[in-house]
Amino acid sequence: MLKIRPSIRPKFNAHKRLPEEEPIKQTCTDGLVVLEFDLPGEKINKLSASVLEKFERVIDELRDDSAVQGVIIISAKEDIFVAGADIDEIAAIQTSSEGEAKAAEGQRIFRKLEQLNVPVLAAIKGACLGGGMELALACDYRMVADHPKTQLGLPEVNLGIFPGFGGTQRLPRVVGLSRGLQMILSGNAVDAKNALKIGLADWMVPAEKLLNSAIEVLRKVIDGTITRPKRRRAFKDKLIESNPIGVSIACSVARNQVASRAGKHYPAPLKAINVIEKTYGLNPLGAGDAIEAREVGALLCSETSKNLIRVFRLSERGKKVRGLPGAAADAKSINRVAILGAGTMGAGIAQITAYRDIPVRLRDVSEEAVARGMKIAGKLFSDAVKKRKMSARESRQRMSLISPATELKGLKICDLVIEAVVEELAIKKKVFNEIEQQVTSDAMIASNTSALSINKMAEDMLCPERFLGMHFFNPPHRMPLVEIIPGNATSAETVATAVAFVKRLGKTPVVCADRPGFVVNRILLPYLNEAGLLLQEGAAVREIDYVMTDFGMPMGPLELLDEVGIDVGYKAAACMFTELKKVHNPAAIFSVFLAAGRLGRKVNLGLYSHDGILKEPDTEGIQDLLQIVRESEGIQVRSDISAEEIEDRLILSMINEAAACLREEVVPDPEDLELAMIFGTGFPPFRGGLLKFADSMGPATIVDALETLQVKHGDRFAPDPYLITLAQSGNTFLGR
Ligand code: NAD
Repeated sequence: MLKIRPSIRPKFNAHKRLPEEEPIKQTCTDGLVVLEFDLPGEKINKLSASVLEKFERVIDELRDDSAVQGVIIISAKEDIFVAGADIDEIAAIQTSSEGEAKAAEGQRIFRKLEQLNVPVLAAIKGACLGGGMELALACDYRMVADHPKTQLGLPEVNLGIFPGFGGTQRLPRVVGLSRGLQMILSGNAVDAKNALKIGLADWMVPAEKLLNSAIEVLRKVIDGTITRPKRRRAFKDKLIESNPIGVSIACSVARNQVASRAGKHYPAPLKAINVIEKTYGLNPLGAGDAIEAREVGALLCSETSKNLIRVFRLSERGKKVRGLPGAAADAKSINRVAILGAGTMGAGIAQITAYRDIPVRLRDVSEEAVARGMKIAGKLFSDAVKKRKMSARESRQRMSLISPATELKGLKICDLVIEAVVEELAIKKKVFNEIEQQVTSDAMIASNTSALSINKMAEDMLCPERFLGMHFFNPPHRMPLVEIIPGNATSAETVATAVAFVKRLGKTPVVCADRPGFVVNRILLPYLNEAGLLLQEGAAVREIDYVMTDFGMPMGPLELLDEVGIDVGYKAAACMFTELKKVHNPAAIFSVFLAAGRLGRKVNLGLYSHDGILKEPDTEGIQDLLQIVRESEGIQVRSDISAEEIEDRLILSMINEAAACLREEVVPDPEDLELAMIFGTGFPPFRGGLLKFADSMGPATIVDALETLQVKHGDRFAPDPYLITLAQSGNTFLGR
């Protein structure tokens, strides 16, 4: 029997805090030390400088203690092993040398962990991400809990950096070069089963047995009765990894993939590939640390990283929204949902609801329409299976939660009814009247309208306090944002319930006022319209779209119009401009397109001609239509439209409208507008947000530029009073 130093001797489970509020608890029995991460007062464990410092001290003690035979690292938090480095500390890094030093410090401590001459096992339940994953990689063994919250990954690229605590050095050696590259470059995490399959974990055990299994296995490792499970590497992988040419081929394949996905605006993935190519296979293992630290140091202080951190914080802030600002009430639970209208949106919302295990009734007026909706939902589930997001069995189970209906009965047992019928006020009002006659007094009603006024819709309702707008974006399974729009009569409880429901669907809610277009369409429509005006004046379809994708938008404005449907975009813009009594008018070209039946992708012809996923600007096809517009509107074709002009007119249209939104308090906080634009339109995250970008130009510069455009192109560019006030007071949108 081993003698144990008094300092690490307490009985198992009798945790000894060192002193009271320490982030790492330490227990020991019979030579096995358990280090339990438990950051006081926090829901998560993170590797802040002080936690790392503490961790190093513990490792030093263990190294010097001859009584220690093995170490288990585990977490006391429910769903988190270790979530990563401290994001505030990353955000505070100002210079590359600071960044390099920070990375080198983490590397040094994890090398000490790796060099302990006793076996160390990470027992992982919950999120093991970033620095937490790098810590686990520096352990000799990893055991994972078979639990839905167990996720292992290196998501640093999402913050514009790459793993800098040895992750680029260890992961490719543990899981193989190609898979390691893929994990680091995508930032995607794997669950417990996949971690076991790819060799990132050595054992998987039931979650409730994690600690006991870890002790049992580590004892067997120590007495030599168990070794690491053998994993056969595919011949192809062995071939690639065994020689420099193979490594260089794997890296150039990764480079091509990254170039098409991340592009020039996101340098971190390419830098990570360079580091891995230079350091893969170097001996000893730490020989590449300096290169990793130097390269990540440069990224840590970059503008892109700072902006991506800002977006991360915005999304964390979005997760904390509970309801109406200052009046959040308790949310009611939603156990059964009805969706009226089984079209594009209704079917999509039904699928994401069933995906989260909530039973849904999907109702439309005819059998055919319901069948079409069920087909859309079924296809989304089978796509999820193809993408390995769920098993075929799970997908069947969840699809069976959607019950098709043409009748209204059945609404009585639903807690929430979402209306997604055609965008006509009279039809929607009739539908609400039918719903109110069916549902119980407790049920809540939401409209998925994209542009109609919530207050107008509520005019004839018996109980308008339980009604609001819940604006999902198309396609619902992919778009992360949902606008929540309370009317004047909506109760705080209804808003809180809607917010909680949206979060349960895995989406981010933004609460906004019942103003035309709410927030996203309000800002997006003038931008799309300006693209139409530029086209009429002589800019080419491809040129306009290229300028905006080059700016970082996920697709160009004209491409987007084709996807949304030119009829839908035109109608929404016309309705919004009228209601706002704005100087904007829908570009004439769109009404000509409508008359010609060029509605966009749904009919395979719009600004582009669509053939499956392939699309080409239909330059010749639209010439005659442009000619009609130019003649009727008296437009002189210009050949001098530069990329700068296109970018200025399009981006400044959005910024000016954003200023109007803030003036009218469409959202309670500029940060809500930022989040809505990034999650609702894909405004480039590397730019940190529309207002962040505007602030980088400065309100005074923007006002000057708008005034110049106003002189040339009309009053739609007149700077909004909100912007003028910012410029005059020397303030900025974000005020800091
Ligand atoms: P859609 O035309 O694809 O589907 C509408 C469905 O409603 C049709 O199947 C129709 O048969 C059905 N319907 C009509 N009257 C009905 C009734 N009384 N009861 C039940 N069903 C009825 O339309 P969509 O694109 O799914 O749009 C639905 C709503 O969502 C609209 O308010 C639209 O503005 C909004 N919206 C659309 C998008 C988009 O991009 N398509 C995005 C966000 C919001």
